[in-house]
Amino acid sequence: MSTLSQIKGIGPKTISLLEKLNIYTSDDLINYYPFRFEILKRTPQDEFINEAKVIIDGVVSSPVVLNHFRKINKMTFFIKTSYGIFNLIIFNRSFLKNNLTVDKKIIITGKLDLLKNTIIVNDLFFGELNSNSIIKPIYHTTAGLKNKNLNNFIQLILKDNNLTKEILPQSLIDKYKFISKASALKIIHQPQTEETLKKALLRLKYEELFIFMLKINILKNNFKKIQRSKRKIDRNKLNELIDTLDFKLTNDQVNTLDDIISDLSSDYKMNRLLQGDVGSGKTIVAALASYLIYDNGYQTALMVPTELLAIQHYDTLKKLFKDTKMKIKLLLGSTKKKEKELIYDQLKNHEIDLVIGTHALIQDKVEYSNLGLVITDEQHRFGVNQRNILKDKSQAPDVLYLSATPIPRTYALTIYGDMDISNIKSKPQNRKDIMTIIKTKKEIKDVLTLIKEEIDLNHQVFVVAPMIEEDEESENENVSKLKRQFDLAFSKLCKVGLLHGKMKPDEKDTIMKDFSNNKIQILISTTVIEVGIDIQNATMMVIFDANKFGLSTLHQLRGRVGRNDLDCYCVLISEKKEPRLEIMTRTNDGFEISEEDFKMRGSGDIFGYKQSGEMAFKISDLKKDYKILMSAKEDSEEFLKNNGLEQDLELKNIIMKSLDLSS
Ligand code: ADP
Ligand code: MG
Repeated sequence: MSTLSQIKGIGPKTISLLEKLNIYTSDDLINYYPFRFEILKRTPQDEFINEAKVIIDGVVSSPVVLNHFRKINKMTFFIKTSYGIFNLIIFNRSFLKNNLTVDKKIIITGKLDLLKNTIIVNDLFFGELNSNSIIKPIYHTTAGLKNKNLNNFIQLILKDNNLTKEILPQSLIDKYKFISKASALKIIHQPQTEETLKKALLRLKYEELFIFMLKINILKNNFKKIQRSKRKIDRNKLNELIDTLDFKLTNDQVNTLDDIISDLSSDYKMNRLLQGDVGSGKTIVAALASYLIYDNGYQTALMVPTELLAIQHYDTLKKLFKDTKMKIKLLLGSTKKKEKELIYDQLKNHEIDLVIGTHALIQDKVEYSNLGLVITDEQHRFGVNQRNILKDKSQAPDVLYLSATPIPRTYALTIYGDMDISNIKSKPQNRKDIMTIIKTKKEIKDVLTLIKEEIDLNHQVFVVAPMIEEDEESENENVSKLKRQFDLAFSKLCKVGLLHGKMKPDEKDTIMKDFSNNKIQILISTTVIEVGIDIQNATMMVIFDANKFGLSTLHQLRGRVGRNDLDCYCVLISEKKEPRLEIMTRTNDGFEISEEDFKMRGSGDIFGYKQSGEMAFKISDLKKDYKILMSAKEDSEEFLKNNGLEQDLELKNIIMKSLDLSS
């Protein structure tokens, strides 16, 4: 493996572009896989019609004529093909001229002007369409770095590449008669035939999924093995606390709580995923679990993905536990240094029983005196590795994950194969379905009228606009613009608030508090309010540019309302009426929506891979490659059962390191 600067032909400018793609070494470079392939097949003769995009090969049959006009250059020459002779026009590629000698074999793609018998060329390759097709790997790249350049650098390394190590066990390579990793890499970066490409892709996908399943299974075995003393369960005390609630637990909440109780009273530590649609009431179940842990003399850490959510949970749980002696603290990245130090001390000395926070909870500095339970809310936002870090803070805390992104059962079993799963399917009884409608931007007046109706009823409204990718500045501008427009429209009627990711935590906190105390009636925000936030009096969710979001995200956002017995509405505003969005108007069932999302988008959105790198697959797609995944699952179980990992220390090393279990 070499660094990029050691590679001939790669200068500082290219290095900084490659770094944008997270490529730092030659190894990174050859393991940077194309995300799709363009297959070039000779266009059949009957599709050679005017204005068609065509692909054809032939030989150069006249000298190239080169013309310059200002900064533009243009080459014209003839090509002789099996369909006859065509005139070719190529702009701005005069550097190719010397190679385009008469009788040279070339392949071109371009647009056909049948009347002039001319093709305006898009792409030109040297060679011929032997097997009737050529295959071009296409990479995700960045401005300034062309697909072709990227491929050229990769080719450069592949040329003298004997660096590629096999990590897949030989027994599996034999079992499936896989081609070597080195040839698989060569092939995907320069595929010759569809058949070999298929083999190479299968090889790489299998490897990726095998390693993934190996990790899952190791986690699973690690957990199953870990013993700890039984927790005692004082049912009377628990019921007393439950009696203070101003609602009755749903059957599913009771069942889930029973699952947790049976985990806690066993000899092994709990590793449970609690899945339940937005608003199904997971928080209270988790809180009751923390109470049982407290009653056994242990601490609980509750980790959530955003500060807002942490604050809300803090407020809710403070209220819930007000008649108990439980000591509760909030620890955020933005907590003042002095306060942080104090909390660190208190955690170490067990002066805190329940700490609620963001990633701040998994900083190295944080030490617990007696951590008994770790709860991770909105689990899908954290990757496998992050899941681990917090657990390692103590010998054997029990672990409870909460997830509002239900995923289809079969996938859940695989992805969360290391956990036991409880589902809360029913919602609290007083809930009504949220009426969802789609409006185009032209119909914005209707939307404003609907909002006004809710305000007149003394209800509150969320307005969400998407964040514009790669450019957070404009995200703010975007919602700020909306804020100004809403101020114009509503300032006489009510107060409009603004919330976005760039605001200081205490500013956010104030706005959120004002909204939950009904000092603000319309809250304009980015998706920072996506997860968890609970405002009882909010009855309408308006989402601008709804088509830019995945269905699961829309469902999450919509779940911010409908947490009461009022009629609630969700308005999706979209440039045009997209059929995809219709699903939202048809159903309020998160499971159904996630199935649909899964069908349409693959696994990406569901596991929120932008937030959690671990779940991102480089080359596999859990839906499309489900069969490979199942083989990988079986093989990895078999491999571990036969002690394969102990005999393959190199692989063991790789896996343990990536799981952070090496110590
Ligand atoms: P989520 O599962 O999305 O995290 P929450 O735990 O935030 O949902 O609960 C949503 C709302 O429902 C909260 O205001 C909570 O107090 C309320 N709630 C929870 N359980 C019940 C119940 N059994 N009956 C009525 N309301 C409930
Ligand atoms: Mg929640």
